[in-house]
Amino acid sequence: MPTQSKPSKIAGKTNPKSKIQNRKSTTPKSPKAANPKSKIENPKWYTSPERLQKIFVELDALFPKPECALLHENPFQLLVATILSAQCTDERVNKVTPGLFRKWPTPRDYVGLPQDELEKEIHSTGFFRNKAKNIIGAATRIVNEFGGLTPRTMEELLSLPGVARKTANVVLGTAYGIAVGAVVDTHVFRITHRLKLSQAKTPEKVEEDLMRLVPQARWVSFSHQLILFGRKICFARKPLCAECPLATLCDSPDKTI
Ligand code: SF4
Repeated sequence: MPTQSKPSKIAGKTNPKSKIQNRKSTTPKSPKAANPKSKIENPKWYTSPERLQKIFVELDALFPKPECALLHENPFQLLVATILSAQCTDERVNKVTPGLFRKWPTPRDYVGLPQDELEKEIHSTGFFRNKAKNIIGAATRIVNEFGGLTPRTMEELLSLPGVARKTANVVLGTAYGIAVGAVVDTHVFRITHRLKLSQAKTPEKVEEDLMRLVPQARWVSFSHQLILFGRKICFARKPLCAECPLATLCDSPDKTI
């Protein structure tokens, strides 16, 4: 996922003490938005069900089949691509990964791989030393602890080097179709604030707000829709508000009309 503004806050590793990250069950509690008292109890993230429904309708019309833009053929490749996408565009990652996966397609190929060899392959994605170290570390743990299979639970994914909640949500939601949370990248963070779906200061708290507001069945697709919406219309700078179907629902100070 690209990170254009405040990348370190959005894409960085989550606080290990985060309440949401340490949640033991992979089945989150039901969203509380349906409770009418929520407006009073949680004024910071409340939006009316009617307004939320209108947002869903417009996003469904704009992006009926939202998908992850990172090229991959299996969960491990998506994990690697997502690690590479930190503070880098998906376009750049997609230029690197086809060659990378031709050379080293499986977790076992990375066990014992000299870090400098991998660094050369992924150099153009930025932060290549850290990313190479994390990819080798994650692949090694996948082989040694998980029999070579990329984990399917949040807890196990978070035990891999370089994997924070955002990356784990991408892998679980896109590769396995498991909705454990909502992906909060720089686009999702910005747009949830503009649409007043959250006023939280951290991606972890924004995710908690989205999990309360949005039905679980929409967690994966809604994140993809917001990411696409941020790439095509609601840009960080100079959003295309005149073309935005959500304009009547938006009173963001960033609005340009
Ligand atoms: S009106 Fe502008 S700022 Fe508001 S959601 Fe649409 S593009 Fe974004």
